[in-house]
Amino acid sequence: MERYNSSQKYVNFGKIIATLNVTLQLLLLYQLSWIHLGFGNQVLAFILAYIIADFLNGIVHMIMDHNENYTSSYGPLVAHFHLHHQTPMYTKRPLLVVYFNESGAKIWLVPFQVVVLLLLLTASVSPLVAYILVLVSILSSVAEVSHYLCHTSNSSVAEYLARAGLLLSRKHHTPHHDQDNTNYAFLNGVSDPLINRIAGVFYPGYKSTTDIHFARYAETETGHR
Ligand SMILES: [Zn+2]
Ligand SMILES: [Zn+2]
Repeated sequence: MERYNSSQKYVNFGKIIATLNVTLQLLLLYQLSWIHLGFGNQVLAFILAYIIADFLNGIVHMIMDHNENYTSSYGPLVAHFHLHHQTPMYTKRPLLVVYFNESGAKIWLVPFQVVVLLLLLTASVSPLVAYILVLVSILSSVAEVSHYLCHTSNSSVAEYLARAGLLLSRKHHTPHHDQDNTNYAFLNGVSDPLINRIAGVFYPGYKSTTDIHFARYAETETGHR
């Protein structure tokens, strides 16, 4: 953790990733504005994109929770990610700032969006698929805001949206922190029944593995042995 906190390099890296992600999202929206899709299909694209974004981000979260390459060059980034089990409380910030900052942790979203942009520019996908792919890109960042609201906000609007099943509810997400190997999805959690089955087959859980190893790693890095 010391390596992460003390190194401006990693903070700057996050800002570069966030800038790339948000710029690509704006470019994708601009490209999408030229593609015609009927209203009914737009609604369908939104619903499908919501489920796919929830699933995709949940799967990345599941893989990252079990990644233990702390000593690699991206080790401090992995360790910083695992911090979310220990200190799930975020610093309160305006939602747009949260959207930008948290997009900086989504390294995978950069190549994903580059591929989507190329598909749109070369008109290689149908209008419906184009809408789904662009919405998945944006909802992946929205998912981070949903997780932030779930942990940090007492706003009645956020609570209403969580109760309506559009955002992540505390009731649904708390088991991820209290229990083990469960409820990784964080847009609204709709895909967790499927992700939990996948996690049960492929992973042992994080309580007896990365959570413990992370605690040891953090001690060594700060010198409090
Ligand atoms: Zn986690
Ligand atoms: Zn959480």
